Amino acid sequence: MKITRQKGTKDIFLDEMNVWQYIEENIRNLCDEYNLNEIRTPVFESTELFLRGVGNETDIVNKEMYTFLDKGNRSITLRPELTAGVVRAYIENGMSSLISPIKFWYNANMYRYEKMQKGRYREFSQFGVEIFGSKSYKADLEAIIISSNFLDRIGLKGEYTLSINSIGCKKCREKYINKLKSYIKPNLSSMCDDCKKRYDKNPLRVLDCKVETCQEILKDAPMILDNLCDDCKNSFNKVINSLEKLNINYKIDKKIVRGLDYYNGIVYEYTSDDLGLAIGGGGRYDTLVENLGGASTPAVGFGMGLNRVVLLLEDMKEKLKSYVDVYFLITNDEGYIKSLDVIKMLRENGYKIEQDLSEKSFRAQLKYADKIKARYVIILGEDEIKNNKCILRNMENGSQKEICFNFDEIVDNI
Ligand SMILES: [Zn+2]
Ligand SMILES: [Zn+2]
Repeated sequence: MKITRQKGTKDIFLDEMNVWQYIEENIRNLCDEYNLNEIRTPVFESTELFLRGVGNETDIVNKEMYTFLDKGNRSITLRPELTAGVVRAYIENGMSSLISPIKFWYNANMYRYEKMQKGRYREFSQFGVEIFGSKSYKADLEAIIISSNFLDRIGLKGEYTLSINSIGCKKCREKYINKLKSYIKPNLSSMCDDCKKRYDKNPLRVLDCKVETCQEILKDAPMILDNLCDDCKNSFNKVINSLEKLNINYKIDKKIVRGLDYYNGIVYEYTSDDLGLAIGGGGRYDTLVENLGGASTPAVGFGMGLNRVVLLLEDMKEKLKSYVDVYFLITNDEGYIKSLDVIKMLRENGYKIEQDLSEKSFRAQLKYADKIKARYVIILGEDEIKNNKCILRNMENGSQKEICFNFDEIVDNI
């Protein structure tokens, strides 16, 4: 029986790997510019962390977690998102006493038992940032700037929409939810089953419902953005004004509530115009640290789904194809041994070099050099070895010339 990869997983190699590495390099450079610290947390955590952290009314927790008992009878879950794990690490390692605000980034794999969609996998990668310790709108803004900067920098400028909303704080949300509930109540019986459940447990998420009859009912529902307290309104306006000044395009979308329970204040989503699908999002989560047992700590963060981003960068594959600087075409042992020192020196000086590893014939090696896109081929036949020469072939135009076989001469000619 053939063993195949699991549904929702992916093997990444060759052309596509170049795109991933290109994105990862951009992430590292970008985060370094903002002086963010990388954090790596375990792939698996106690199930309890996500029940309390993500919220047990969310789809992620209810339907999508990879949860199992380990041999010690502990309930373990493969992380379905990273914020809860980072917050656990923040509390467990006493990071509140280090510096504040403390800023982290991660680029990691996560696991959700999800329905397949374009660019959606059960094992998927997210780049994210979490900033702990700032109540100011400046932290919200910084997270938005970093995330939009990331998309611009990798080549998606103008190809996505940033939608932004505020879902208020504890204070204004409580008032608003009562208002929303009294609006919904008369029509509740004609709404979908999910909404009926949400009505009691998490009424804000009713606004997220995709069912048409529900949307029709909610058409004139009061919106949280129109019911913010002064503090929340102020922060939101400051962020919006700053986005204007920075020429960052955005759209206010009063319906954004985000799929996770822990958000408050400013929330936002990035949608690919091309795919019409979400590629990332984030927001403020001022109560999560406390909910998970830490001291009350304001925080903001975002996550970007890299699998979809890779889909959008399909045409980078050709551009990112790697070239080999020199292929050493040698068919005898003497030449092979003689070449090793020079090859080592070239590699140490940053040249990408390949040589035959499988006793191929002259013709087969030339074909191979062409396939790997070698820019030059150095041929070291028996005559050349005797005279300490080699033949340098330019693979772009096919021209050849004889040069001395030493490091300096080769470098001068390539
Ligand atoms: Zn408020
Ligand atoms: Zn509904």
